[in-house]
Amino acid sequence: MGKVKVLPKAAANKIAAGEVVERPASVVKELIENSIDAGADEIRVIIKAGGVGEISVYDNGRGMNKEAVLLAPERFATSKIESEKDLDSVKSFGFRGEALSSISSVAKVRIASAAKNEKGFFVEIDGGEVKGKGEIIMDQGTVVKVRDLFYNVPARRKFLKSKRAETRAVAEVVRRYAVSYPEISFELISDGKKLVSADKSEPADRIAEILNDPWAEEPVEIFHSTPSGAAVRGFFAPAEKVKPGRPTQWLFVNKRPVEDKRVRYVVAEAYEAISKRGKPGFVLFAEVPHEEVDVNVHPRKSEVKFKDSSVVYRAIFMAAKQIFKSKPDVVDGGQVPKVGGAGRAAADSKPIAHSHTVQTPEEAISFTQSLLETADREEELHGKAGSEEEAIGWQKDSKILQAGNSYLITELPEGIMIVDQHAAAERILYEKVLTGIQKGEIPMQALVVPVDVEVSGEDLFKGWEEQFEKLGIKAESFGDDMVRIRALPAGVDPKEAGELFLDLLGGIDSAEPSALEENEKDAAAKIACKSAIKFGDPLTGKEADDLLSSLAECGNPLSCPHGRPTTYQIPYKKLEQLFGRT
Ligand code: ADP
Ligand code: MG
Repeated sequence: MGKVKVLPKAAANKIAAGEVVERPASVVKELIENSIDAGADEIRVIIKAGGVGEISVYDNGRGMNKEAVLLAPERFATSKIESEKDLDSVKSFGFRGEALSSISSVAKVRIASAAKNEKGFFVEIDGGEVKGKGEIIMDQGTVVKVRDLFYNVPARRKFLKSKRAETRAVAEVVRRYAVSYPEISFELISDGKKLVSADKSEPADRIAEILNDPWAEEPVEIFHSTPSGAAVRGFFAPAEKVKPGRPTQWLFVNKRPVEDKRVRYVVAEAYEAISKRGKPGFVLFAEVPHEEVDVNVHPRKSEVKFKDSSVVYRAIFMAAKQIFKSKPDVVDGGQVPKVGGAGRAAADSKPIAHSHTVQTPEEAISFTQSLLETADREEELHGKAGSEEEAIGWQKDSKILQAGNSYLITELPEGIMIVDQHAAAERILYEKVLTGIQKGEIPMQALVVPVDVEVSGEDLFKGWEEQFEKLGIKAESFGDDMVRIRALPAGVDPKEAGELFLDLLGGIDSAEPSALEENEKDAAAKIACKSAIKFGDPLTGKEADDLLSSLAECGNPLSCPHGRPTTYQIPYKKLEQLFGRT
């Protein structure tokens, strides 16, 4: 045995490459993620010979300047995290700074890029060695071309599958990102043949286009959110479209495609009553606060670990379960298994089976049963009406009727729901402003005509400009006792600018500017009061739709910030009683 030595850089990169770069599809995945991280809204992938011959990814993202192009293929070079602390809350795909260096060590790579209003620059690397560099003329964006993958790692090359299989794997990667990023146009060309070609579109349309599964033509879309901050947006196979075969079953966590067997069991359990017909197709987007998931467990980041997985799986289960709420007749034998109430959220339930991993279908079933039991118990404990822990089981595309220019009436899986439009708008604005304050960036609207207000008492406002700006209000003093308001948080009625300003100013009873921030909930509630959607305003269909969609996405959709209810739900059972049907 030789002495312990630090590996030469090229060898170390090659070993790291073994983890990141397994096959052409993993190269495509890394390059697409970089393009998404760069803010591109057009991504084009061209491959030859299953990607072993060539992989080129074009994007129209931010691009890189000369220094960045030269640095990008260095190991641990990343512009996305600054220190170890950031690892806890990575929002971008990349952060390890490993992909380009790994790929460059096992292939011939050319990176060409141009940042806004700058000249383009390229670098060429063969097996980790810089072979050429220089200026070029190109539009803003980046092109990475990878040729002769694994030309210097024959062992790897031997393990590649057929050209067709590698092409299919590449196409699968492109299709998955196309589904989670409908706002980006994607194209995949393989040996001159167009395999994917998707213009920007809406999520459901993109799914129908990309999946090519019969169930996905008209998926049932369901939102389900929990007070603990997890939310699920699911596209499920309608019960009557469940057929024998292997439908697409895709999970995305914070838009990242993720492999997860357990989610299949959880959804299958929700479809249990029709399990004889086949497996349900689904595309699920779980949104989980970034601190709650660990994406760093796997070098290719295809697996994630949840800090509290029971919350996520329960939210998924509850969402899937809603498929059956309105259509008991489609269930074989007419029996709908009993679960918690309509659209019950996962709530902030006690973590059950906290670090449990499911290995077998049997285990999965007992795991889901324990979910069901907790849901039932919780219902016994808290009752159903108006509890803050409930989410709304509202399905997008349900018809909405506006009554008295004030109330929205819509259909739920288990009954009807009446929404107080102003209370709902307040709730939505409240949550937006509050997260905005906490994140330090509130979406603002500039006032076309600035609003001037008089403030009594001298110097009352001076020194507070910055604090108000944190609340989304841009204002400046002029003269002795005047303040000019120039911008408000988006969604606030500009007509109420003056009143809102004075309201906030009047609420300060301390001489410390920090008082405003400490009372952020109070401030957010005051701002929410001035929402542009009022009781008595006629709404267009789209406005009504947006209002209910945003409400369904709220952490706490059932009451306004002052505690008044936003919605009133009447179960069909109750209506049946009223009409003497029972
Ligand atoms: P990571 O994505 O983990 O940061 P990579 O090796 O994938 O590491 O990329 C290194 C760096 O190169 C990125 O942090 C980014 O700054 C830059 N980069 C890579 N690809 C692109 C691209 N398509 N557009 C703009 N910048 C890019
Ligand atoms: Mg990357």
